[in-house]
Amino acid sequence: IPRNPPPTLHQPELWSDEFNDFICKCLIKDFELRPNVLDLLQHVFIKQTVGREKILQKQLIELIDLNQHERIHTKKGSHMKTQDADEVDDLATLEVLDENTVADQLQNRYARDQVYTYVGDTLIAVNPFHKMEIYTPEHTKMYIGAKHTANPPHIFAVADTAYQSMVSYNNDQCIVISGESGAGKTESAHLLVQQLTVLGKANNRTLQEKILLVNSLVEAFGNACTVINDNSSRFGKYLEMKFNGGGTVVGAQISEYLLEKSRVVHQAMGERNFHIFYYIYAGLADRKKLAHYKLSDSKTPKYLYHENIKLGPDIVNNASYKEQFDAVEQCFKVIGFTLEELGNVYSTLAAILNSGDIEFSPVASEHQTDKSNISNMSVLENVASLLRIRSDELQEALTSHCVVARGETIVRPNTVEKAVEVRDAMGKALYSRLFSWIVNRINALLAKNCTSDDKGLNIGILDIFGFENFKKNSFEQLCINIANEQIQFYFNQHIFAWEQDEYLNEEVDARMIEYEDNRPLLDLFLQKPMGMLSLLDEESRFPQATDQTLVEKFEGNLKTKSFWRPMRVDLGFGIHHYAGKVIYNAAGFLAKNRETLPADIILLLRSSENELIRKLVTHPLTRTGEVDTTALCESGDTPYHPRETTNMRTQTVASYFRYSLMDLLSKMVAGQPHFVRCIKPNNDRHANKFDREKVLVQLRYTGVLETAKIRRQGYSHRILFANFIKRYYLLAYHANEEPAATPETCAAILEKAKLENWAMGKTKVFLKYYHVEHLNLMVQQA
Ligand code: ATP
Ligand code: MG
Repeated sequence: IPRNPPPTLHQPELWSDEFNDFICKCLIKDFELRPNVLDLLQHVFIKQTVGREKILQKQLIELIDLNQHERIHTKKGSHMKTQDADEVDDLATLEVLDENTVADQLQNRYARDQVYTYVGDTLIAVNPFHKMEIYTPEHTKMYIGAKHTANPPHIFAVADTAYQSMVSYNNDQCIVISGESGAGKTESAHLLVQQLTVLGKANNRTLQEKILLVNSLVEAFGNACTVINDNSSRFGKYLEMKFNGGGTVVGAQISEYLLEKSRVVHQAMGERNFHIFYYIYAGLADRKKLAHYKLSDSKTPKYLYHENIKLGPDIVNNASYKEQFDAVEQCFKVIGFTLEELGNVYSTLAAILNSGDIEFSPVASEHQTDKSNISNMSVLENVASLLRIRSDELQEALTSHCVVARGETIVRPNTVEKAVEVRDAMGKALYSRLFSWIVNRINALLAKNCTSDDKGLNIGILDIFGFENFKKNSFEQLCINIANEQIQFYFNQHIFAWEQDEYLNEEVDARMIEYEDNRPLLDLFLQKPMGMLSLLDEESRFPQATDQTLVEKFEGNLKTKSFWRPMRVDLGFGIHHYAGKVIYNAAGFLAKNRETLPADIILLLRSSENELIRKLVTHPLTRTGEVDTTALCESGDTPYHPRETTNMRTQTVASYFRYSLMDLLSKMVAGQPHFVRCIKPNNDRHANKFDREKVLVQLRYTGVLETAKIRRQGYSHRILFANFIKRYYLLAYHANEEPAATPETCAAILEKAKLENWAMGKTKVFLKYYHVEHLNLMVQQA
């Protein structure tokens, strides 16, 4: 780069050919300068798209592309794969690649606080469990437009690769982050968003601020303290950062999957409800507003009851919760929620907390012994007033239900057990619908910045729960593991199948690499009509079905080695997942799958004077496993009569799950994938503790070892003939020659460089890592 660039630098269309050539040479020849050149050029090009420089842009983009795919190992003078165990940033360059070597490498690096490591184009991130000084503004800068090998491996480099690929190829990107609970997925997602907002040069500061706040807001509602992680995500999140054709960030959109709504009404030992409930409780107390929201400062609502927090004061006096409440409120406001909407959100949350305290007692009469009554009417009144509905109608909807018998609708009383179930179903439904509403509202508010003429490129970041295998595994684990099975399939497709496809398409004679295809397993779950989820739905439609008949149905229909019934485990069944064997317990499967909100409750909530509550129970927000209210008759004179029966068309949790999984996948496959595999080095959340066995299990689960092998065995670089020649022709031709873009020219260059074991495809040269390294060195010396 000349010290004094020509005055026309920002008008590339006015550049002289000489200057253009000069830039190209810089890119080709001088690797040290390259990041600066790229930075400068991208800055210029991204901003401008006129006339002649489009051609320049194309040329340069090709070069940028080449640059990205280079992995020139830093050891000067060495063109061999580096084997020095202490200095490998990319495990795919190791000569020997087995479990132990990978574990050794990761362990040694971890001991030196090098938590990031590449395996080809996958990034492994080992959770440091302590604050690291590697996310500073200097680091942000260091990783912009830099070649992978110029800096230590880093999550910022993944953001950069995705961003540069997006602008270079003009296509969407998708970053998949996986790992078990507490491995660092959510932190990684934050870091990616942080780096991408800088790369995307949000020219509008408020937009940048909003995007950064979205995560905090959604996490206040979707995360909770578990025994494993104090800030555990209890939902899957796909965040799409939207860019215009010039690469400037213009918005963001979130999709949420599988919120663990059972947590609203029940938490396991040592666990807590969603963060927001504690924040709001403490925050409202701080503002002396508890009474307004019908909450008591001395008696903890049952839904928040926790063995360590027996008294309200422990929550209401918690300074951190108060701060978090202020922060959440601030997020809402910055993103653009109105004060009225905020008030409605608080009322809904308070109504849910209050509803958990409604108590029922059995009423024994002469004819009916299974009737229930509400024993604390004042709480019922509070709930009704917060939901802005009539309390007598709420009482009726909780303590009775309708059935159709011989064409007649009969009102039947609810037992105490049934009434509790309905109450909890209402709490769960309100919360999950509120969560969806908030997410939709955020999306609508952030979409305001996207104009219709934006070409709309995007980078999606998927942060979803990893594979789970507990002592007791239920319906939730099955859904989570199916989702992981699907993501693994996508990963395999990317790494293995597409790799092979490329060889086939290019007619390159490469040894076919074998891998374990988990497609049969996906069919086992998702196939219609005989897959597991379909069988579950079918069984859920039979009123007489039980969890026992369900497992028998599975056993009778699923004829594969991957499914079996373990001996002596009632309601147990086993699945051999890609990541290992899991024994599930089918107890509660049918109820969890049906989990319908009684029509009485839906119709009642539709009569609410609170606009938000009405929205939550109105189509199209209808979702996970609740009654499809579109089937209801809307023309009744009174708000919710005639009372509907439960015989209506319903959407099950399984069918919604299948739908959202397909939706997610369709978004993912539209983009070019990048993978971040988070690894938890120990179960104690300790810094500097590396539990080797634990890490090995995760490496197996995440397919990291296979990735390494295939990259090593295959050709890591595939370069179009024209690009290859443009870059390396000087090795075999004179500067003023213009050799034809043919395989013969490429072969001549490779032969001149005395390289072997490369392959020639139909349009590309197939090279191994060390070939590229060697060629680059030769060009530098030429
Ligand atoms: P879950 O599946 O439960 O949501 P997760 O994989 O999203 O888990 P995180 O919440 O991202 O896990 O991380 C758990 C904790 O690990 C964080 O709260 C933080 O303390 C620590 N941690 C993760 N990544 C980093 C990092 N890069 N630097 C420092 N600490 C980290
Ligand atoms: Mg998380």
